[in-house]
Amino acid sequence: MQINELPDYLANKIAAGEVVERPASVVKELVENSVDANSSWIKIEIKEAGLQEIKITDDGNGIPHDQCKKAFLRHATSKIKSENDLFHVRTLGFRGEALASIAAVSRLEIKTSTGTEAGTRLVLEGGHIKEEGRSDARQGTEITVQDIFFNTPARLKYLKTVHTELGHITDIINRMAFSHSDIRFELTHNEKRIFQTTGKGDLRQIAASVYGMSVAKQMIPVHTRTLDYEINGYIAKPEVNRASRNYITTIVNGRFIKSIGLARAITNGFHTFLPIGRQPVVVLNITMDPYLIDVNVHPTKLEVRFSKEKELFEAVSQMIKDTFHQQTLIPSGQKKS
Ligand code: ADP
Ligand code: MG
Repeated sequence: MQINELPDYLANKIAAGEVVERPASVVKELVENSVDANSSWIKIEIKEAGLQEIKITDDGNGIPHDQCKKAFLRHATSKIKSENDLFHVRTLGFRGEALASIAAVSRLEIKTSTGTEAGTRLVLEGGHIKEEGRSDARQGTEITVQDIFFNTPARLKYLKTVHTELGHITDIINRMAFSHSDIRFELTHNEKRIFQTTGKGDLRQIAASVYGMSVAKQMIPVHTRTLDYEINGYIAKPEVNRASRNYITTIVNGRFIKSIGLARAITNGFHTFLPIGRQPVVVLNITMDPYLIDVNVHPTKLEVRFSKEKELFEAVSQMIKDTFHQQTLIPSGQKKS
């Protein structure tokens, strides 16, 4: 018997299974990187629901020429340095796995520049560097991912229809738009624009882009703060309701998260106003000391743990109750629009 140390490209290919489940995971990871790079504009161009091509362009910090190859190594990140940083994560990424994983299962081209020197251009195939050189000095990063899963046929076979995969991608971009309303997003599919935001920070305007004007018009602003939490957002009037919980959007420190406890606190706030079995349309932005939240639960980081969850859940329920209370106290003829 012989124990072998796997070469990097193979280890990355295996690990990619965790991070890159489908084209939407690639979109999520790359857009998160653009957000972390302080971009004010992110363009997402998709062909055939990402099965053919995913191209993300940003105007962020870019990667210095001497660092670019390193970004494709597994566990290579500029976002944390020490164990202690793990408890104060302010960026969306920190695991240093995405670029290595995506490159391992696709053909990838990156052009990136910090704007101060000629940029870098790399082409990788299945994790191997095929071409390297310089690109122009436009500040920002452009990453093109083609033929995802070309070297993992089992994963490719498992992918659903173009329609389903595109749905996952628009979900990701909608959440990103909600959680980063100060960034201008553009999403195209097969060269047709299907979603865009202004980047002007207006959550109601983003709700209009995502859910349509008629829903956005029915949304009421909400706000509260406690010792540890600040909560801002919009809740739709109870007459606007849905069959699924997917219209409850919760964002914590700029990260879209799913929390059953938080969703329950929201529906509790609606109390008996919602018809039985129906769910509300809500967008909440919660900010807190990163110390109070553990985001290191799962690689895709959708689930989190709060250390003072009781305080948070009560504040959320109470905020919604108070909002309705105030609304009903104002005689309907004098309601502000
Ligand atoms: P992580 O985001 O967890 O750090 P990634 O594998 O996603 O790991 O990215 C590795 C590194 O590459 C990042 O830490 C960052 O320094 C750099 N990087 C990736 N994408 C971009 C981008 N769009 N703009 C600037 N730097 C980037
Ligand atoms: Mg990342």
